[in-house]
Amino acid sequence: MSEVRVRFAPSPTGALHIGGVRTALYNYLFAKKNGGTFILRIEDTDQARYVPGAEKYIIDSLRWFGILPTEGPEFGGNYGPYRQSERKDLYKQYADKLIADGNAYYAFDTPEELEALRKSDAEFKYCGHTRANLKNSLSLSDEETQALLEDGAHVAIRLKIPVNESIAFNDEVRGHVVFDSNELDDKVILKGDGMPTYHLANIVDDHLMKISHVIRGEEWLSSTPHHVLMYRFLGWTPPSFSHLPLILKPTGQGKLSKRDGAKFGFPVFPLSWDSDHEEDNFVGFRDDGYLPDGLLNFLALLGWSPGDDQEILTLDQMIALFGLDKIVKSGARFDIEKALWFNQQYIIHSDDLKLGYLIQDRAIEEGYHVAVEYLAEVCRLMKERVHKTTEIIANGRFFFEAPHAYDDETIKKKYKPENKEHLIAIAQNLKDASTKDVESAIKVYIQEQGLKLGDFMPLIRIAISGSMQGPDLIESIKLIGGAESALRMLKAVEYFEKI
Ligand code: GLU
Repeated sequence: MSEVRVRFAPSPTGALHIGGVRTALYNYLFAKKNGGTFILRIEDTDQARYVPGAEKYIIDSLRWFGILPTEGPEFGGNYGPYRQSERKDLYKQYADKLIADGNAYYAFDTPEELEALRKSDAEFKYCGHTRANLKNSLSLSDEETQALLEDGAHVAIRLKIPVNESIAFNDEVRGHVVFDSNELDDKVILKGDGMPTYHLANIVDDHLMKISHVIRGEEWLSSTPHHVLMYRFLGWTPPSFSHLPLILKPTGQGKLSKRDGAKFGFPVFPLSWDSDHEEDNFVGFRDDGYLPDGLLNFLALLGWSPGDDQEILTLDQMIALFGLDKIVKSGARFDIEKALWFNQQYIIHSDDLKLGYLIQDRAIEEGYHVAVEYLAEVCRLMKERVHKTTEIIANGRFFFEAPHAYDDETIKKKYKPENKEHLIAIAQNLKDASTKDVESAIKVYIQEQGLKLGDFMPLIRIAISGSMQGPDLIESIKLIGGAESALRMLKAVEYFEKI
């Protein structure tokens, strides 16, 4: 195989959707697997849809996942610039060549005229069967064309799709793909403002940047015959194509859309989006408590099957196992439960101090100003019990403050007024106990008094944390400290007496 060069080519029209991250990941894996180059190209020719901040969001997301390109805007490289708007002047010569060779033509139809045609016929297509009746350099005389060109209004260049032809290409995922040229439209390749459309800019750049493999979402499959024709018309060898399966909604019905996050109540974007327009803002996976490695692992397996049952894969393992032949054709259902399972596995296997640092900002936001080593200990005790890092604080507030409410039902079942003195005695023991004596401060007392652990431990747990759920009680008390635990117990006993 000649040098492998792949690109991730998002349009900066908003936040990078999780499906885009998967496309970037597969390109990254394929490049690394083959000793190739992973390139980021910003496809910003559609200025009307340009969203400020989107490019930064894309790069920040790739950085968070640790799948950065080696060529691209901000990364350098010998094939730049890597933003299409900065390459604007480069494209026209290719459109001109297509015209000169009879493979493209000028079209002068106004947006209103085209709109009217579409209104009267929902199936309307600008193509070999309609172009003779429309306003273009093929239907008009040379003089008329010249006059309209000089006038300059609404001049587009369209690709001339041949009629009655089968356009075939090989797709690494789908195999032999054939399109009937009569089904295709004469796409605009250069607009009146001199900006190329996606189609022209994309193939010119793939050619000039020596892209060997195009790996992109399935939604671009229907554009590929146009691209294949342009490669042929320009005398260029097309790259290899791979179209990735769709990511489907959790219901399995239809493509997962940007709006589905709000609808299903989980993130569909890696990072949060904070703009002045509050209605546009959303929380991303990172702020919702997902770890990038786990999310990447989950995404990798949405549409790629490495061949055995192993699910937990490091990035290096993914690189070693990756192959385009193992990408599946059918859509992959986005199962948030599975994403949570991966996240849990990655949390469990994360270093406690690393987790501590991760939750530090949130702890401070919540008013919990504790040392990161303390947070690390909280993480050690909580990590088996959560699916998201955000739950470490949300479900472990008792590590930072005394409970505000108690599990009344259990108290009613377990509390006997005759045990009041024993609970107070245990609190007293705890107050003076050093960390290593915590266990005996509670258990030795209970045994010596001939009492039952089962009558006391639930109440002590409730006194410390408010509820019956939670990590190991002795370990929790050690962390909170004997003195604080004693105070909580005394306060709780007063409450127990009242209900
Ligand atoms: N700019 C296109 C996008 O936003 C790129 C498609 C391609 O990779 O060719 O997805």
